[in-house]
Amino acid sequence: MKKPHTPSIGFVSLGCPKAATDSEHILTRMRAEGYVITPSYKEADLVVVNTCGFIDSAVAESLEAIGEALQENGKVIVTGCLGAKGDIVRNAHPKVLAVTGPHATDEVMEAVHHHLPRLHDPYSDLVPAQGIRLTPSHFAYVKISEGCNHRCTFCIIPSLRGDLVSRPVGDVMQEAQNLVDAGVKELLVISQDTSAYGVDVKYRTGFWGGRPMKTRMTELAAAMGDLGAWVRLHYVYPYPSVDEVIPLMAAGKILPYLDIPFQHANERILKLMKRPGGSAAGLAGMDGKPSNSQNVLKRIGQWRSVCPDITLRSTFIVGFPGETEEEFEELLDFIEAAQLDRVGAFKYSPVEGALANELPDHIDPDEQEDRLARLMYLQEEISAEKLAKKVGKTLTVLVDDVDAEGSIARSAADAPEIDGLVYINGEDLEVGEFVTVKITDSDEHDLWGEVV
Ligand code: SF4
Repeated sequence: MKKPHTPSIGFVSLGCPKAATDSEHILTRMRAEGYVITPSYKEADLVVVNTCGFIDSAVAESLEAIGEALQENGKVIVTGCLGAKGDIVRNAHPKVLAVTGPHATDEVMEAVHHHLPRLHDPYSDLVPAQGIRLTPSHFAYVKISEGCNHRCTFCIIPSLRGDLVSRPVGDVMQEAQNLVDAGVKELLVISQDTSAYGVDVKYRTGFWGGRPMKTRMTELAAAMGDLGAWVRLHYVYPYPSVDEVIPLMAAGKILPYLDIPFQHANERILKLMKRPGGSAAGLAGMDGKPSNSQNVLKRIGQWRSVCPDITLRSTFIVGFPGETEEEFEELLDFIEAAQLDRVGAFKYSPVEGALANELPDHIDPDEQEDRLARLMYLQEEISAEKLAKKVGKTLTVLVDDVDAEGSIARSAADAPEIDGLVYINGEDLEVGEFVTVKITDSDEHDLWGEVV
């Protein structure tokens, strides 16, 4: 008897870590239902493209990927952020089979079933409990919520992904436990707004390990910290509740690392951005009242006094519409005073559909470029000085990559793909291994060390 053809699907995943977790959920469902995932357009019966629509260059890249999949394969289903942006996909590529928005596993699977009926064999198609992962097996992103309740004027994520919807705390913990059981050494908590976790469900009490547990960032971080892996918090907005996780960092339960997007320091620009909190630095001070960037600096000082080893990462937008030279200099003063460990900075760029497009006085691109260079120059100096202070210290690092020349690892201060690296020469190490290294050298981004 002729063996039935196993339906095969090609998968293209573009965009941010949040899009990657959407891809993982879709891939997990496909594998669970007996579809084979193939890396070849030719072998695939159809192709799913998970798109990004955040900025114009991401839109162009997504449309190009869809075009390539259509040309090479012909049967294409589109999902992700670009799918939520009206008719852009269908106008550019009328032949796509289906288009869905982000976070739409059910709709994608419906389209897959329609165009490629499945061959389900629940006895032979074993999917690991941790699902299918796109990251290397020693670290994994755990998405705790979808959407966002804020309406920052430069951002269209709420219109793409909707308001905040927190995942049940028991589900998140089970996923984290499954990952650790499968050998994951580092859990990266992601969302649009991690400190808002549970706001939509009024911090509902769920269950984990037979015990009640609140749907709340502090409780989640503490419980994840008990699983025995590194736990790193991303996209934490500086609400007063953030102060509660700093002691967990000081106690070594979770990594002493806070990814906290400040975006600017000047009160007027932050108001134009409509950052959460709606006032200077978008922050509430220790007393919960709106505060200015001096209070932010005070708060950073307090975090450092509780947890001296804390690594602070932030992102900033330069050249926002109407930003004056004085306002930009206020941002530089803040950067100088805050002495952040890691900084990502971006020139403001208009995103189709964002409210900030309507603001007057857009900044000349050359001026934006100049401001970006000035900010990055300042931060490079700060970063080089801070990293130089690590020379001679002993750090625990997690090995990410090994080649003929040596190993590339990361310390607690380095998130994958966005922060620095620790280079280790000529040791026989394994990917996913924790090792202790003595730091021997540094530059403005990275460290070098030897195993002790
Ligand atoms: S907090 Fe602001 S920038 Fe972040 S996702 Fe929400 S609206 Fe966008």
